[in-house]
Amino acid sequence: MEFQKEIEAKAYNAGGGSFEVPAQNLIDFLEGKISATLNKNSCKIGTKSVNLADIFPKFISETLLAAFNEWKPEYPSYVSKAGLLLAPETRTSCAVRIKRTEAYESVNIKGLFPIGEGAGYTGGITSSAADGIKAVRSTNSKL
Ligand SMILES: Cc1cc2nc3c(=O)[nH]c(=O)nc-3n(C[C@H](O)[C@H](O)[C@H](O)COP(=O)(O)OP(=O)(O)OC[C@H]3O[C@@H](n4cnc5c(N)ncnc54)[C@H](O)[C@@H]3O)c2cc1C
Repeated sequence: MEFQKEIEAKAYNAGGGSFEVPAQNLIDFLEGKISATLNKNSCKIGTKSVNLADIFPKFISETLLAAFNEWKPEYPSYVSKAGLLLAPETRTSCAVRIKRTEAYESVNIKGLFPIGEGAGYTGGITSSAADGIKAVRSTNSKL
C-alpha cells in the first residue's frame, strides 16, 4: 500500500495538484523526452505533459521500455506516433481477506457470506460475478 501511495503522490504532484492526468506520447517515452505537445485524447479532466519515468520506480520504467521496444517491430501501429501513455493505474485487489468456510459463510459470523473483491476473494468484474454465483448456488443447495 505504501508502494501504491508513493506512485500516486508522484502522479498527483506531476499533474500539478489539480487532478490533471500525467501523460506522455509513447514515442517520447521511448526516447526519454517530455512531449512538447500531447497527442489528442478524450481525457475530460485534462492531461499534463510529464516524463512518466519520473513517476515510476526504475524497474517499472525499464520493464515498460523493454516491452514496448520488443513489441515495436511486431505491432508498428500499436507502438507508434499515435500512442499516448496516461498516468499509472495503481488500484489493486483487497490486501486482506475475510475468512469463510467452504460453504462461503464467514468462519466466525453466522449468516455472513463474504464474497467478491472487498472480502478479498476476487479482483475484477468476472471473477467477482463468478464468486457471487458460486456463493448463491452453494447457499441454495443447503436451504
Ligand atoms: C475505475 C475502475 C476501473 C475498473 N476496471 C475494470 C476492468 O476494466 N475490468 C475488470 O475486470 N475490473 C475492473 N475494475 C474492478 C471491478 O470493478 C471490481 O473488481 C468489481 O466491481 C468488484 O465487484 P464486487 O461485487 O466484489 O464489489 P462492488 O462492485 O464494489 O460491489 C459492492 C457493492 O456493495 C455496496 N455496499 C458497500 N457497503 C455497503 C453496505 N454497508 N451496505 C450495503 N451495501 C454496501 C456498494 O454500494 C456496491 O454496490 C475496475 C474498478 C475501478 C474502480
